Amino acid sequence: MDMDFDVVIVGGGPAGSTAASYLAREGLSVGLFESELFPRPHVGESLVPATTPVLNEIGAMEKIEKAGFPRKFGAAWTSAESRNVPHNGFRDLNGANCDFRIAEVTFSERDQEGVDRDHTFHVDRAKFDLILLKHAEELGAKVFSGVRVLKLDFSDPDGVRVVTRMGGKEVDFRTRLVVDASGRQTLLGRQLKLKDADPVFNQYAVHTWFEGLDRQAIAGRSEQADFIFIHFLPLEDTWVWQIPITDTVTSIGVVTQKSRFAEASADREKFFWDTIATRPDLLEALKHSERVEQFKAEGDYSYSMRQICGDRFVMIGDAARFVDPIFSSGVSIAMNGARIACQDILEAHHAGGAYRKEEFATYERLMRGGVRRWYEFISIYYRLNILFTAFVQDPRYRLDVLKMLQGSFYEDEEPKALTAMREIVTVVENDPTHLWHPYLGTLRAPSAAPAF
Ligand SMILES: Cc1cc2nc3c(=O)[nH]c(=O)nc-3n(C[C@H](O)[C@H](O)[C@H](O)COP(=O)(O)OP(=O)(O)OC[C@H]3O[C@@H](n4cnc5c(N)ncnc54)[C@H](O)[C@@H]3O)c2cc1C
Repeated sequence: MDMDFDVVIVGGGPAGSTAASYLAREGLSVGLFESELFPRPHVGESLVPATTPVLNEIGAMEKIEKAGFPRKFGAAWTSAESRNVPHNGFRDLNGANCDFRIAEVTFSERDQEGVDRDHTFHVDRAKFDLILLKHAEELGAKVFSGVRVLKLDFSDPDGVRVVTRMGGKEVDFRTRLVVDASGRQTLLGRQLKLKDADPVFNQYAVHTWFEGLDRQAIAGRSEQADFIFIHFLPLEDTWVWQIPITDTVTSIGVVTQKSRFAEASADREKFFWDTIATRPDLLEALKHSERVEQFKAEGDYSYSMRQICGDRFVMIGDAARFVDPIFSSGVSIAMNGARIACQDILEAHHAGGAYRKEEFATYERLMRGGVRRWYEFISIYYRLNILFTAFVQDPRYRLDVLKMLQGSFYEDEEPKALTAMREIVTVVENDPTHLWHPYLGTLRAPSAAPAF
Protein backbone atom coordinates (compact mmCIF):
# COMPACT_ATOMS: atom_id res chain seq x y z
CA MET A 1 0.00 0.00 0.00
CA ASP A 2 1.06 3.63 -0.50
CA MET A 3 2.17 5.16 2.76
CA ASP A 4 1.33 8.63 4.02
CA PHE A 5 3.89 8.38 6.84
CA ASP A 6 6.70 6.14 8.08
CA VAL A 7 5.30 6.51 11.60
CA VAL A 8 1.96 7.69 12.97
CA ILE A 9 1.93 8.77 16.63
CA VAL A 10 -1.37 8.86 18.51
CA GLY A 11 -1.32 11.56 21.20
CA GLY A 12 0.71 14.73 21.70
CA GLY A 13 1.53 14.49 25.44
CA PRO A 14 5.16 14.19 26.60
CA ALA A 15 5.48 10.62 25.26
CA GLY A 16 4.12 11.41 21.79
CA SER A 17 5.95 14.72 21.31
CA THR A 18 9.25 13.26 22.50
CA ALA A 19 8.97 10.30 20.13
CA ALA A 20 7.99 12.66 17.28
CA SER A 21 11.08 14.79 17.97
CA TYR A 22 13.47 11.83 18.03
CA LEU A 23 12.08 10.39 14.78
CA ALA A 24 11.48 13.58 12.78
CA ARG A 25 14.99 14.88 13.42
CA GLU A 26 16.34 11.66 11.88
CA GLY A 27 14.35 12.34 8.72
CA LEU A 28 11.47 9.89 9.16
CA SER A 29 8.08 11.18 8.01
CA VAL A 30 5.98 11.44 11.16
CA GLY A 31 2.26 12.21 11.49
CA LEU A 32 1.15 13.04 15.05
CA PHE A 33 -2.58 13.09 15.80
CA GLU A 34 -3.78 14.86 18.94
CA SER A 35 -7.49 14.91 19.72
CA GLU A 36 -7.34 18.08 21.85
CA LEU A 37 -6.45 21.63 20.89
CA PHE A 38 -3.39 22.64 22.94
CA PRO A 39 -2.86 24.22 25.40
CA ARG A 40 -4.97 21.86 27.49
CA PRO A 41 -4.70 21.23 31.25
CA HIS A 42 -3.26 17.92 32.47
CA VAL A 43 -2.44 16.29 35.79
CA GLY A 44 1.23 15.40 36.43
CA GLU A 45 3.07 18.62 37.17
CA SER A 46 6.29 17.70 38.96
CA LEU A 47 9.24 16.33 36.99
CA VAL A 48 12.17 14.18 38.09
CA PRO A 49 15.75 14.82 36.90
CA ALA A 50 15.73 11.82 34.54
CA THR A 51 13.79 14.05 32.11
CA THR A 52 16.84 16.32 31.75
CA PRO A 53 18.94 14.13 29.39
CA VAL A 54 15.91 13.64 27.14
CA LEU A 55 15.10 17.37 27.02
CA ASN A 56 18.76 18.05 26.22
CA GLU A 57 18.95 15.36 23.57
CA ILE A 58 15.89 16.50 21.63
CA GLY A 59 17.05 20.12 21.95
CA ALA A 60 14.05 21.39 23.93
CA MET A 61 15.79 22.31 27.20
CA GLU A 62 16.44 25.92 26.25
CA LYS A 63 12.72 26.45 25.59
CA ILE A 64 11.81 24.85 28.91
CA GLU A 65 14.36 27.03 30.73
CA LYS A 66 12.98 30.15 29.03
CA ALA A 67 9.39 29.33 30.02
CA GLY A 68 10.28 30.19 33.64
CA PHE A 69 8.82 27.11 35.33
CA PRO A 70 9.65 26.89 39.08
CA ARG A 71 12.89 25.03 39.65
CA LYS A 72 12.67 21.85 41.67
CA PHE A 73 15.77 21.20 43.76
CA GLY A 74 14.43 18.36 45.86
CA ALA A 75 11.60 16.61 47.65
CA ALA A 76 10.33 16.67 51.25
CA TRP A 77 7.96 14.52 53.27
CA THR A 78 6.02 15.69 56.29
CA SER A 79 4.04 13.70 58.79
CA ALA A 80 1.60 14.81 61.44
CA GLU A 81 1.30 11.34 62.89
CA SER A 82 4.67 11.44 64.54
CA ARG A 83 3.73 14.71 66.22
CA ASN A 84 1.40 12.63 68.37
CA VAL A 85 4.19 10.42 69.69
CA PRO A 86 7.07 11.70 71.76
CA HIS A 87 9.68 12.71 69.23
CA ASN A 88 12.58 11.28 71.18
CA GLY A 89 10.73 7.97 71.55
CA PHE A 90 11.09 7.20 67.87
CA ARG A 91 14.05 5.12 66.80
CA ASP A 92 15.48 4.14 63.47
CA LEU A 93 16.70 0.65 62.64
CA ASN A 94 19.98 1.23 64.45
CA GLY A 95 18.17 2.27 67.61
CA ALA A 96 19.14 5.92 67.14
CA ASN A 97 16.72 8.82 67.45
CA CYS A 98 14.98 9.50 64.17
CA ASP A 99 12.75 12.42 63.24
CA PHE A 100 9.79 11.23 61.20
CA ARG A 101 8.14 14.62 61.07
CA ILE A 102 10.03 16.00 58.11
CA ALA A 103 12.60 14.49 55.78
CA GLU A 104 14.10 15.84 52.59
CA VAL A 105 16.47 15.07 49.75
CA THR A 106 18.18 17.48 47.39
CA PHE A 107 19.16 16.41 43.89
CA SER A 108 22.59 18.02 44.24
CA GLU A 109 23.58 15.31 46.74
CA ARG A 110 24.11 12.76 43.98
CA ASP A 111 25.59 13.08 40.49
CA GLN A 112 23.36 11.52 37.87
CA GLU A 113 24.57 10.39 34.47
CA GLY A 114 23.58 12.81 31.72
CA VAL A 115 22.14 15.35 34.15
CA ASP A 116 23.99 18.67 33.94
CA ARG A 117 22.14 20.65 36.63
CA ASP A 118 21.07 20.42 40.27
CA HIS A 119 17.37 20.90 39.57
CA THR A 120 14.48 19.87 37.42
CA PHE A 121 11.13 21.67 37.10
CA HIS A 122 7.55 21.80 38.27
CA VAL A 123 5.44 22.50 35.20
CA ASP A 124 2.06 23.83 34.23
CA ARG A 125 1.36 20.96 31.86
CA ALA A 126 -0.74 23.10 29.52
CA LYS A 127 2.39 25.14 28.78
CA PHE A 128 4.94 22.33 29.01
CA ASP A 129 3.08 19.99 26.65
CA LEU A 130 2.51 22.80 24.14
CA ILE A 131 6.23 23.64 24.10
CA LEU A 132 7.14 20.00 23.43
CA LEU A 133 4.48 19.60 20.73
CA LYS A 134 5.58 22.75 18.90
CA HIS A 135 9.18 21.61 19.20
CA ALA A 136 8.33 18.30 17.48
CA GLU A 137 6.57 20.26 14.74
CA GLU A 138 9.63 22.48 14.26
CA LEU A 139 11.76 19.36 13.87
CA GLY A 140 9.52 18.25 10.99
CA ALA A 141 6.66 16.19 12.47
CA LYS A 142 3.30 16.90 10.85
CA VAL A 143 0.95 17.66 13.75
CA PHE A 144 -2.82 17.26 13.34
CA SER A 145 -4.46 19.05 16.29
CA GLY A 146 -8.06 18.41 17.26
CA VAL A 147 -8.02 15.15 15.27
CA ARG A 148 -8.96 11.96 17.09
CA VAL A 149 -7.75 8.55 16.02
CA LEU A 150 -10.78 6.27 16.11
CA LYS A 151 -9.27 2.94 15.16
CA LEU A 152 -6.12 1.24 13.94
CA ASP A 153 -6.56 -1.43 11.30
CA PHE A 154 -3.75 -4.01 11.12
CA SER A 155 -5.38 -6.31 8.56
CA ASP A 156 -2.85 -5.43 5.82
CA PRO A 157 0.51 -7.07 6.67
CA ASP A 158 2.46 -4.24 5.01
CA GLY A 159 1.10 -1.32 6.97
CA VAL A 160 -1.55 0.12 9.27
CA ARG A 161 -4.70 2.00 8.32
CA VAL A 162 -5.27 4.85 10.75
CA VAL A 163 -8.92 5.89 10.93
CA THR A 164 -9.35 9.45 12.20
CA ARG A 165 -12.19 11.87 12.76
CA MET A 166 -11.34 15.15 11.10
CA GLY A 167 -13.83 18.02 11.00
CA GLY A 168 -16.78 15.68 11.46
CA LYS A 169 -15.62 13.25 8.73
CA GLU A 170 -13.75 9.96 8.87
CA VAL A 171 -10.41 10.27 7.12
CA ASP A 172 -7.90 7.41 6.69
CA PHE A 173 -4.11 7.57 6.68
CA ARG A 174 -1.61 4.82 5.97
CA THR A 175 1.59 4.22 7.88
CA ARG A 176 4.24 1.54 8.37
CA LEU A 177 4.27 1.84 12.17
CA VAL A 178 1.96 3.18 14.87
CA VAL A 179 3.26 4.53 18.17
CA ASP A 180 0.43 4.62 20.68
CA ALA A 181 1.03 7.55 23.04
CA SER A 182 -2.66 8.11 23.81
CA GLY A 183 -2.08 8.25 27.59
CA ARG A 184 -4.61 6.79 29.99
CA GLN A 185 -7.14 6.59 27.14
CA THR A 186 -5.01 3.59 26.04
CA LEU A 187 -6.35 3.47 22.49
CA LEU A 188 -4.59 0.25 21.43
CA GLY A 189 -4.78 -1.45 24.81
CA ARG A 190 -8.56 -1.12 24.69
CA GLN A 191 -8.86 -2.00 21.00
CA LEU A 192 -6.71 -5.13 21.33
CA LYS A 193 -8.13 -5.97 24.80
CA LEU A 194 -4.69 -6.07 26.41
CA LYS A 195 -5.44 -3.98 29.49
CA ASP A 196 -5.56 -5.35 33.07
CA ALA A 197 -6.61 -3.23 36.07
CA ASP A 198 -3.91 -3.29 38.74
CA PRO A 199 -4.70 -5.88 41.44
CA VAL A 200 -3.36 -3.72 44.29
CA PHE A 201 -3.48 -0.05 43.48
CA ASN A 202 -6.91 1.47 43.07
CA GLN A 203 -6.18 5.01 44.10
CA TYR A 204 -8.27 8.07 43.53
CA ALA A 205 -7.08 11.67 43.41
CA VAL A 206 -8.84 15.03 43.84
CA HIS A 207 -6.76 18.07 42.98
CA THR A 208 -6.87 21.81 42.33
CA TRP A 209 -4.71 24.96 42.38
CA PHE A 210 -4.44 27.58 45.16
CA GLU A 211 -3.20 31.16 44.95
CA GLY A 212 -1.18 32.55 47.86
CA LEU A 213 -0.39 29.38 49.83
CA ASP A 214 2.46 30.22 52.20
CA ARG A 215 4.89 27.50 51.08
CA GLN A 216 7.62 29.10 53.12
CA ALA A 217 5.67 28.57 56.36
CA ILE A 218 5.16 24.87 55.58
CA ALA A 219 8.82 24.30 54.71
CA GLY A 220 11.24 23.26 57.42
CA ARG A 221 13.87 25.60 55.99
CA SER A 222 13.47 28.36 53.42
CA GLU A 223 15.38 26.49 50.69
CA GLN A 224 12.70 23.81 50.75
CA ALA A 225 9.85 26.16 49.87
CA ASP A 226 9.85 25.15 46.18
CA PHE A 227 10.46 21.44 46.73
CA ILE A 228 7.68 19.01 46.01
CA PHE A 229 6.07 18.18 49.36
CA ILE A 230 4.44 14.89 50.11
CA HIS A 231 2.34 15.20 53.25
CA PHE A 232 1.41 11.94 54.97
CA LEU A 233 -2.06 12.05 56.48
CA PRO A 234 -3.09 10.08 59.55
CA LEU A 235 -5.34 7.99 57.30
CA GLU A 236 -4.28 4.72 55.73
CA ASP A 237 -2.68 4.95 52.30
CA THR A 238 -3.59 8.61 51.98
CA TRP A 239 -1.28 11.50 51.10
CA VAL A 240 -1.26 15.01 49.72
CA TRP A 241 0.96 16.51 47.03
CA GLN A 242 2.06 20.13 47.11
CA ILE A 243 3.62 21.28 43.84
CA PRO A 244 4.62 24.87 42.99
CA ILE A 245 3.13 25.99 39.66
CA THR A 246 4.24 29.64 39.74
CA ASP A 247 5.73 31.87 42.45
CA THR A 248 2.27 32.17 43.98
CA VAL A 249 0.16 29.30 42.62
CA THR A 250 0.40 25.82 44.18
CA SER A 251 -1.14 22.56 43.03
CA ILE A 252 -2.62 20.49 45.87
CA GLY A 253 -3.88 16.95 45.38
CA VAL A 254 -5.31 14.40 47.78
CA VAL A 255 -4.62 10.75 46.91
CA THR A 256 -6.46 7.97 48.68
CA GLN A 257 -7.91 4.51 48.12
CA LYS A 258 -10.91 4.71 45.86
CA SER A 259 -12.96 2.69 48.37
CA ARG A 260 -12.40 5.43 50.96
CA PHE A 261 -13.86 8.01 48.60
CA ALA A 262 -16.80 5.72 47.79
CA GLU A 263 -17.46 5.10 51.50
CA ALA A 264 -17.48 8.83 52.22
CA SER A 265 -20.19 9.25 49.52
CA ALA A 266 -19.14 12.88 49.43
CA ASP A 267 -18.72 15.24 46.53
CA ARG A 268 -15.15 16.02 45.44
CA GLU A 269 -14.96 19.32 47.24
CA LYS A 270 -16.30 18.02 50.56
CA PHE A 271 -14.06 14.96 50.34
CA PHE A 272 -11.03 17.14 49.65
CA TRP A 273 -11.64 19.39 52.65
CA ASP A 274 -12.65 16.58 55.03
CA THR A 275 -9.45 14.71 54.16
CA ILE A 276 -7.23 17.77 54.47
CA ALA A 277 -8.82 18.51 57.86
CA THR A 278 -7.02 15.45 59.28
CA ARG A 279 -3.89 17.61 59.08
CA PRO A 280 -4.95 20.84 60.86
CA ASP A 281 -1.65 22.54 59.96
CA LEU A 282 -2.33 22.07 56.23
CA LEU A 283 -5.96 23.04 56.58
CA GLU A 284 -4.96 26.24 58.31
CA ALA A 285 -2.40 27.12 55.60
CA LEU A 286 -4.86 26.42 52.78
CA LYS A 287 -7.64 28.44 54.43
CA HIS A 288 -5.48 31.52 54.03
CA SER A 289 -5.14 31.00 50.30
CA GLU A 290 -7.63 31.15 47.43
CA ARG A 291 -8.67 28.26 45.22
CA VAL A 292 -8.28 29.32 41.59
CA GLU A 293 -9.24 26.14 39.68
CA GLN A 294 -12.11 23.67 39.69
CA PHE A 295 -11.68 20.45 41.66
CA LYS A 296 -10.68 17.66 39.28
CA ALA A 297 -10.67 13.94 39.95
CA GLU A 298 -8.58 11.07 38.56
CA GLY A 299 -9.57 7.46 39.18
CA ASP A 300 -8.90 3.95 37.88
CA TYR A 301 -5.45 4.98 36.82
CA SER A 302 -3.40 1.92 37.73
CA TYR A 303 -3.21 -0.78 35.07
CA SER A 304 -0.84 -2.86 33.02
CA MET A 305 -0.84 -4.20 29.45
CA ARG A 306 -0.20 -7.83 28.65
CA GLN A 307 1.78 -6.68 25.61
CA ILE A 308 3.39 -3.30 24.87
CA CYS A 309 4.66 -3.91 21.35
CA GLY A 310 3.82 -6.11 18.41
CA ASP A 311 4.10 -6.20 14.63
CA ARG A 312 3.78 -2.57 13.48
CA PHE A 313 2.95 -1.08 16.88
CA VAL A 314 4.65 0.16 20.04
CA MET A 315 2.94 1.63 23.11
CA ILE A 316 4.75 4.30 25.14
CA GLY A 317 4.04 6.39 28.26
CA ASP A 318 0.72 5.94 30.02
CA ALA A 319 -0.60 4.10 26.95
CA ALA A 320 1.72 1.24 27.99
CA ARG A 321 1.37 1.27 31.76
CA PHE A 322 0.55 3.42 34.77
CA VAL A 323 1.05 2.50 38.41
CA ASP A 324 0.71 5.35 40.88
CA PRO A 325 1.92 8.95 40.90
CA ILE A 326 3.66 8.89 44.30
CA PHE A 327 7.19 9.49 42.93
CA SER A 328 6.28 11.93 40.14
CA SER A 329 7.66 9.44 37.66
CA GLY A 330 4.98 9.52 34.92
CA VAL A 331 6.39 12.22 32.62
CA SER A 332 9.91 10.83 33.01
CA ILE A 333 8.77 7.31 32.12
CA ALA A 334 6.83 8.75 29.16
CA MET A 335 9.87 10.64 27.84
CA ASN A 336 12.45 7.95 28.60
CA GLY A 337 10.15 5.28 27.18
CA ALA A 338 9.92 7.36 24.00
CA ARG A 339 13.72 7.71 23.93
CA ILE A 340 14.34 3.98 24.31
CA ALA A 341 11.57 2.97 21.90
CA CYS A 342 12.90 5.35 19.26
CA GLN A 343 16.32 3.67 19.34
CA ASP A 344 14.64 0.40 18.33
CA ILE A 345 12.36 2.16 15.84
CA LEU A 346 15.28 3.88 14.11
CA GLU A 347 17.20 0.61 13.86
CA ALA A 348 14.14 -1.13 12.44
CA HIS A 349 13.68 1.74 9.98
CA HIS A 350 17.26 1.39 8.73
CA ALA A 351 16.82 -2.38 8.53
CA GLY A 352 14.02 -2.00 5.96
CA GLY A 353 11.03 -0.72 7.94
CA ALA A 354 9.16 -3.98 8.47
CA TYR A 355 8.74 -3.16 12.18
CA ARG A 356 8.31 -6.70 13.49
CA LYS A 357 7.66 -7.27 17.21
CA GLU A 358 11.12 -8.77 17.77
CA GLU A 359 12.72 -5.51 16.59
CA PHE A 360 11.40 -3.82 19.77
CA ALA A 361 13.02 -6.35 22.12
CA THR A 362 15.43 -3.86 23.75
CA TYR A 363 12.60 -1.45 24.50
CA GLU A 364 10.51 -4.23 25.94
CA ARG A 365 13.32 -5.56 28.14
CA LEU A 366 14.40 -2.16 29.52
CA MET A 367 10.85 -0.98 30.14
CA ARG A 368 9.84 -4.25 31.72
CA GLY A 369 12.83 -4.09 34.13
CA GLY A 370 12.45 -0.36 34.87
CA VAL A 371 8.71 -0.47 35.42
CA ARG A 372 8.93 -3.60 37.56
CA ARG A 373 11.34 -1.76 39.85
CA TRP A 374 9.14 1.33 39.98
CA TYR A 375 6.25 -0.92 40.89
CA GLU A 376 8.16 -2.60 43.71
CA PHE A 377 9.48 0.70 44.99
CA ILE A 378 5.95 2.14 45.06
CA SER A 379 4.49 -0.98 46.70
CA ILE A 380 7.14 -1.04 49.42
CA TYR A 381 6.78 2.69 49.92
CA TYR A 382 3.05 2.36 50.59
CA ARG A 383 3.76 -0.49 53.01
CA LEU A 384 6.49 1.47 54.83
CA ASN A 385 4.24 4.50 55.03
CA ILE A 386 5.93 7.20 57.17
CA LEU A 387 8.74 4.74 57.95
CA PHE A 388 10.03 5.46 54.44
CA THR A 389 11.52 8.65 55.83
CA ALA A 390 13.85 6.52 57.98
CA PHE A 391 15.48 5.23 54.78
CA VAL A 392 15.82 8.72 53.40
CA GLN A 393 17.61 9.77 56.57
CA ASP A 394 19.80 6.67 56.89
CA PRO A 395 23.25 7.37 55.38
CA ARG A 396 23.52 3.74 54.25
CA TYR A 397 20.55 4.04 51.91
CA ARG A 398 20.12 7.75 51.29
CA LEU A 399 21.96 8.04 47.96
CA ASP A 400 20.43 4.89 46.62
CA VAL A 401 16.92 6.09 47.52
CA LEU A 402 17.80 9.41 45.92
CA LYS A 403 18.89 7.59 42.77
CA MET A 404 15.40 6.10 42.47
CA LEU A 405 13.80 9.46 43.21
CA GLN A 406 15.92 10.99 40.46
CA GLY A 407 14.28 8.51 38.09
CA SER A 408 17.33 6.36 37.27
CA PHE A 409 15.63 3.02 36.81
CA TYR A 410 16.57 1.67 33.43
CA GLU A 411 19.55 -0.48 34.39
CA ASP A 412 19.73 -4.20 34.83
CA GLU A 413 20.81 -4.20 38.47
CA GLU A 414 18.36 -3.69 41.35
CA PRO A 415 19.10 -0.65 43.59
CA LYS A 416 20.39 -1.95 46.95
CA ALA A 417 18.04 0.30 48.96
CA LEU A 418 15.13 -1.49 47.31
CA THR A 419 16.49 -4.86 48.42
CA ALA A 420 17.00 -3.50 51.95
CA MET A 421 13.52 -2.03 52.11
CA ARG A 422 11.97 -5.31 51.00
CA GLU A 423 13.92 -7.24 53.66
CA ILE A 424 13.05 -4.80 56.43
CA VAL A 425 9.35 -4.70 55.55
CA THR A 426 9.30 -8.49 55.88
CA VAL A 427 10.96 -8.34 59.32
CA VAL A 428 8.56 -5.67 60.58
CA GLU A 429 5.51 -7.43 59.10
CA ASN A 430 6.40 -10.67 60.88
CA ASP A 431 7.03 -9.10 64.26
CA PRO A 432 3.91 -7.50 65.82
CA THR A 433 6.03 -6.21 68.71
CA HIS A 434 8.37 -4.33 66.41
CA LEU A 435 8.47 -0.60 67.17
CA TRP A 436 7.59 0.10 63.54
CA HIS A 437 4.78 -2.41 63.21
CA PRO A 438 1.85 -0.06 64.00
CA TYR A 439 3.00 2.33 61.30
CA LEU A 440 2.87 -0.08 58.35
CA GLY A 441 0.51 0.87 55.53
CA THR A 442 -2.19 -1.57 54.44
CA LEU A 443 -1.59 -1.87 50.69
CA ARG A 444 0.12 -5.19 50.04
CA ALA A 445 1.56 -5.80 46.62
CA PRO A 446 2.05 -9.37 45.41
CA SER A 447 5.65 -10.52 45.65
CA ALA A 448 5.88 -10.65 41.86
CA ALA A 449 4.57 -7.54 40.19
CA PRO A 450 2.51 -7.89 36.99
CA ALA A 451 4.77 -8.07 33.96
CA PHE A 452 3.66 -4.71 32.62
C1 LIG B 1 -3.23 11.74 40.14
C2 LIG B 1 -2.02 11.78 39.24
C3 LIG B 1 -0.94 12.58 39.58
C4 LIG B 1 0.21 12.60 38.76
N1 LIG B 1 1.31 13.35 39.12
C5 LIG B 1 2.43 13.30 38.37
C6 LIG B 1 3.59 14.09 38.68
O1 LIG B 1 3.62 14.84 39.65
N2 LIG B 1 4.67 13.99 37.86
C7 LIG B 1 4.67 13.17 36.76
O2 LIG B 1 5.69 13.09 36.06
N3 LIG B 1 3.60 12.46 36.43
C8 LIG B 1 2.48 12.50 37.18
N4 LIG B 1 1.38 11.80 36.80
C9 LIG B 1 1.47 10.98 35.59
C10 LIG B 1 1.41 11.83 34.31
O3 LIG B 1 0.22 12.57 34.29
C11 LIG B 1 1.48 10.91 33.10
O4 LIG B 1 2.33 9.83 33.34
C12 LIG B 1 1.95 11.63 31.82
O5 LIG B 1 1.10 12.67 31.48
C13 LIG B 1 2.05 10.62 30.68
O6 LIG B 1 2.31 11.23 29.45
P1 LIG B 1 1.75 10.60 28.11
O7 LIG B 1 2.30 11.42 27.02
O8 LIG B 1 1.96 9.15 28.12
O9 LIG B 1 0.16 10.78 28.19
P2 LIG B 1 -0.71 12.14 28.23
O10 LIG B 1 0.09 13.23 28.80
O11 LIG B 1 -1.98 11.81 28.87
O12 LIG B 1 -0.96 12.46 26.70
C14 LIG B 1 -1.79 11.65 25.91
C15 LIG B 1 -2.41 12.53 24.81
O13 LIG B 1 -3.09 11.68 23.89
C16 LIG B 1 -4.26 12.32 23.43
N5 LIG B 1 -5.14 11.27 22.94
C17 LIG B 1 -5.74 10.28 23.65
N6 LIG B 1 -6.46 9.47 22.84
C18 LIG B 1 -6.32 9.97 21.59
C19 LIG B 1 -6.83 9.57 20.32
N7 LIG B 1 -7.62 8.50 20.19
N8 LIG B 1 -6.50 10.31 19.23
C20 LIG B 1 -5.70 11.39 19.33
N9 LIG B 1 -5.19 11.81 20.52
C21 LIG B 1 -5.50 11.12 21.61
C22 LIG B 1 -4.75 13.03 24.68
O14 LIG B 1 -5.61 14.09 24.36
C23 LIG B 1 -3.45 13.48 25.35
O15 LIG B 1 -3.12 14.82 24.99
C24 LIG B 1 0.23 11.79 37.59
C25 LIG B 1 -0.88 11.03 37.24
C26 LIG B 1 -2.01 11.01 38.06
C27 LIG B 1 -3.17 10.15 37.65
